[in-house]
Amino acid sequence: MNIIDLTVHELQEKLKNNEVTITEIMDAYINRINEKEPEVEAFITTYLEEAKAKARDVEDKVKSGEITGDFAGIPIGIKDNICMKGTKTTCASKMLENFVAPYDASVIEKLKDENLISLGKLNMDEFAMGSSTENSYFKKTKNPWDLNKVPGGSSGGSAAAVAANLVPWALGSDTGGSIRQPASLCGVVGLKPTYGLVSRYGLVAFASSLDQIGPITKDVKDSAILLNLIAGKDEKDTTSEEVPKKDYVKALKNDVKGMKIGVPKEFFGEGINKEVKEQLEKAIQTYKELGAEIEEFSLDIAQYALATYYIIACAEASSNLGRFDGIRYGYRTPEYTNLKDIYKKSRSEGLGDEVKRRIILGTYVLSSGYYDAYYKKAQKVRTLVSNEFSKAFEKYDIILTPTAPTTAFKIGEKSSNPLEMYLADICTVSVNIAGLPGISIPCGVDNEGMPVGLQLIGNKFKEETILNAAYAFEQKVKFREMYKPEFKK
Ligand code: GLN
Repeated sequence: MNIIDLTVHELQEKLKNNEVTITEIMDAYINRINEKEPEVEAFITTYLEEAKAKARDVEDKVKSGEITGDFAGIPIGIKDNICMKGTKTTCASKMLENFVAPYDASVIEKLKDENLISLGKLNMDEFAMGSSTENSYFKKTKNPWDLNKVPGGSSGGSAAAVAANLVPWALGSDTGGSIRQPASLCGVVGLKPTYGLVSRYGLVAFASSLDQIGPITKDVKDSAILLNLIAGKDEKDTTSEEVPKKDYVKALKNDVKGMKIGVPKEFFGEGINKEVKEQLEKAIQTYKELGAEIEEFSLDIAQYALATYYIIACAEASSNLGRFDGIRYGYRTPEYTNLKDIYKKSRSEGLGDEVKRRIILGTYVLSSGYYDAYYKKAQKVRTLVSNEFSKAFEKYDIILTPTAPTTAFKIGEKSSNPLEMYLADICTVSVNIAGLPGISIPCGVDNEGMPVGLQLIGNKFKEETILNAAYAFEQKVKFREMYKPEFKK
């Protein structure tokens, strides 16, 4: 048995049967990080010694009966835009290079209550803006399947770390695809929950009406387990919603007989790579064999989702990032003449190009002369997108699309062309615009052996439906048994 190959539910089983100990699990991961992190560069910060000491402590307390619970001592990795008290939370930005979070995000509190142990903070695009993790101020994370390629983004560190077995699972955040798209490019499972299911308290805001925290895992069952841990109303986040507590693991029935799956033809048109389409067609066939009813339909409003997303996301970002002014948070320019000069230089020096681009775009669409033409119109289209999805869910239980138009691309291939980079989100953004849950699972590989992701979209707060459908597919196709990252150089 190789500990690092196991899913979390497999680890839990072995722990229960005394086939492995908490410290053995921790040591296996620390060794793996020491071995593979120099190649993958998934972490911004690690605290391995501390994690090791914690594992020993938790193990002792479990033995003495002081601690109980299924998650005691299970390692995890956290995207570096989620605050963890006493540790750096950089958002992969020079602006927050030395920012130490003074409090825990609500999701972190929940994990700590269960005695999970964080191995470190994972790389991302600066302030979660990007689709390749190349916008990190610190480093470029590599795709474990091919080290010359990007892991996707913005949660590229989280997805790469899970794919490379540097952590058994991780938390990411998704504003327009940042959990699902890197999961797709790295061949792992990524779930963006319904807006409001998981607390955003302690998540550094990018676009507050779109952001959600969610699990990136090796398989669907782990995704359901981690969602069980983090979901729920939180008084500290007024946009989190009171929904009846569900057990998402119980929802994994491995049965999609009679399930109605809608396939929007717009997601299979121009711009979607041929090999991606081929794998998706196979996946559709698999669902048919499993007894689901597949129907093609038109979701033509989706063609406006990307433009709408970039207007709304940039508008909210320009407002959210106003707080980074060199006074209250983060980086301050060393030389300045007056207050205005501090603002100007601190922001010029502390923020990267993509972040600046978004702030400028966002300020533009919110300015009085253009507000009606862009921001207000985008909000109207947002309503239309939501309505179209609601209509579709009157007919279908889930909607099936590719997660991303292509498999992982080469490092540097798109970084000088922002528009081309934005197209990487063409299949995912509408889900955030409508506040729906979406999951990406691996469904096959392209001719070069790079993973292809399948996206399942559910109606609001119907995580159980997409998780069950994803699980049924996974049990049938067994992607993890067939393909493994090769760290191709
Ligand atoms: N790639 C998209 C963007 O750059 C989505 C990012 C995200 O989901 N955080 O905005």
